[in-house]
Amino acid sequence: MAKVIRYSHGLEHETAAFGPFTFEEYVEEVRRFHAYPGPGVILGGFMVEKAKEQVPSGVLYNAVSETFTCLPDAIQLLTPCTIGNGRLKIVHLGHFALALYDKETGEGVRVGIDHEKLEPFREIRSWLFKLKRKEEQDQDLLIEEIRAAGRHILTVRSVCARVQSLRLPKKKGVSLCPICREAYPSEYGPTCAGCRGQGPYLRWPVGP
Ligand code: ZN
Repeated sequence: MAKVIRYSHGLEHETAAFGPFTFEEYVEEVRRFHAYPGPGVILGGFMVEKAKEQVPSGVLYNAVSETFTCLPDAIQLLTPCTIGNGRLKIVHLGHFALALYDKETGEGVRVGIDHEKLEPFREIRSWLFKLKRKEEQDQDLLIEEIRAAGRHILTVRSVCARVQSLRLPKKKGVSLCPICREAYPSEYGPTCAGCRGQGPYLRWPVGP
């Protein structure tokens, strides 16, 4: 049975909350997947669970994260939506918010942070607004505040996602680059983007 913990600021939380994980197990999953127990991924767990509660059962949903940082990992840990399977798209608005939506109709729910409710949670507020340097943060207090506040500081709003633009582009054809001999999407033109200087490396590795 879920145990209820009550905090001095009047809030309480139930012990089981994160898909198949308890809070402690989820923090361990975050440590394993994200390389350290990032506060954003832990708070993101509350956000994902809140969004999942709002999705009607039986609806096959996709996800969108409005930030590159932290939230994509919470979504990947707690839903079937991953970057690799095309069901999670990151649209970097820089908001700490995410949405789950019906992959056919786009109807869904967006969960963000209610900044009006952050007042009692000084450590969360200073972390979100970067009011302290990382080494000045009280990491344990921050995690405890997230644990207590997690489900109480969220906004939940209906959204309708732009389903078409959130889909992975379909490959129209595949060509072999005449310069680097790698396969690439034909619509990129006569050579691959890497050979045109658009690759992520300082030196493009041409040839075998
Ligand atoms: Zn090439």
